[in-house]
Amino acid sequence: MNSTGNKKTPIAELKAVTKSYLTEGGHELKVLDPIDLAVSDGELVALLGQSGSGKSTILRCLTGLIKPSSGMALHKGSPLHGVNTDASIVFQTFALYPWLTVEQNVAVGLMSRDMSRADKQEAVDRAIEIIGLANYHAAYPRELSGGMRQRVGIARALVSRPRMLCLDEAFSALDVLTAENLRQELLTLWRSPGGDLSSIFMVTHNIEEAVEMATRIVVLFPRPGRVGLVLENPLPYPRDSKSPEFQRLVKLIHESITTTTLPDLPPEVPVPGQPISRGRSRMESIPLVPVGQILGLLSLLHDAPELSNIYDISDEIGREFGETIAIVKAAEILEFIDTPKDEVVFTELGRKFIASDPAGRKAIFAEQVFKLRLFHIILALLNEHEEIDSERIVQDIAAALPYDNPEKIFQTMIAWGRYAGLMDHNTKTGMVFVPKEESEQG
Ligand code: ADP
Ligand code: MG
Repeated sequence: MNSTGNKKTPIAELKAVTKSYLTEGGHELKVLDPIDLAVSDGELVALLGQSGSGKSTILRCLTGLIKPSSGMALHKGSPLHGVNTDASIVFQTFALYPWLTVEQNVAVGLMSRDMSRADKQEAVDRAIEIIGLANYHAAYPRELSGGMRQRVGIARALVSRPRMLCLDEAFSALDVLTAENLRQELLTLWRSPGGDLSSIFMVTHNIEEAVEMATRIVVLFPRPGRVGLVLENPLPYPRDSKSPEFQRLVKLIHESITTTTLPDLPPEVPVPGQPISRGRSRMESIPLVPVGQILGLLSLLHDAPELSNIYDISDEIGREFGETIAIVKAAEILEFIDTPKDEVVFTELGRKFIASDPAGRKAIFAEQVFKLRLFHIILALLNEHEEIDSERIVQDIAAALPYDNPEKIFQTMIAWGRYAGLMDHNTKTGMVFVPKEESEQG
């Protein structure tokens, strides 16, 4: 590992960095709350968080690909101008040029360097050697497997001999074995004494991957993205994923994500004659989950009652933990299920819903949607107008939920509302309206 320079000064650092984007509809989306994060020599920092929480945005700010909205990005203690010259990035999708050979694709990593041809060739050969592509100099990307293509991506990042390697979900498009091999090779490279590579900053939504690799794990909580948990990981390498200490860290992170997404709310004080509803008390966002996935979860709980734990359910439906959490959360705000600790259990209403015929389900769903404050934005307007311009609704959603993408929330609301028979959206005219009662036939 590189030992020159001041060990204390981070290679890359964010100080109180925030970021907002404009959505397609021109609304300001607040993606990051003030973020403080530093990567120093010798560290392997994993940034963990669910999809859409702002991980890639942080990586782009840290490496100088984009500018923060406020706060500061630093390089070795000084304000960062342009890209961080100590850093190289590997993206999830391999981002190779199909018309260039392996060798030429790797050489792209030296494009901005002022080096002689011979030096460039030597550097390219070395990177290709390190990453195990020695017989593929002249191959084209289409001739390579996904794993080999990602090796080219890594070789391209390493060819400039970066002090810090940044990985954005670099293993998530690969099969399990290929991903594991690449992870181990990168760990070996990072740990080998005397190499140029001193630090790795990796973005991932894979909890096991973070625990397997990182010396420090930063868990990002979503909407807005903020640092929720920082864990030092002193486990010796190579790490055994079966060891109790490894499992303890995985569980700890699982729990922190579950409890922030599915908090056990204190019970509301019931109003006599009124159903208890969490939707009544505050404006709550809804997960961007299609109705079909909610129905799928409820059917699964019904058909396989032995599945009561959120991790088992996640395994069973074969989705990422983060996605499963979103589906569970959707079913929970509709009051079909309850989530004490990491258990997932039917409510009375949920049982009744799943036992009902399509018309009955529709009626129950409508009643639950009615209880969600967010839907009152649309329902109140539909009370007074035949049709409403969706643009106006999106504006109102944006004002109510500054950390959500209002267009996406709108689409999901329409999908839920359509299933409930409460609303529909004409994409040609852009108008939202109450659908005509279908004639009830059997
Ligand atoms: P992650 O990498 O954790 O999945 P991102 O940083 O890519 O999250 O995105 C965070 C949020 O910012 C998402 O809601 C995403 O839709 C939004 N976003 C990202 N890039 C842009 C952009 N260029 N314009 C508008 N919104 C964006
Ligand atoms: Mg990302």
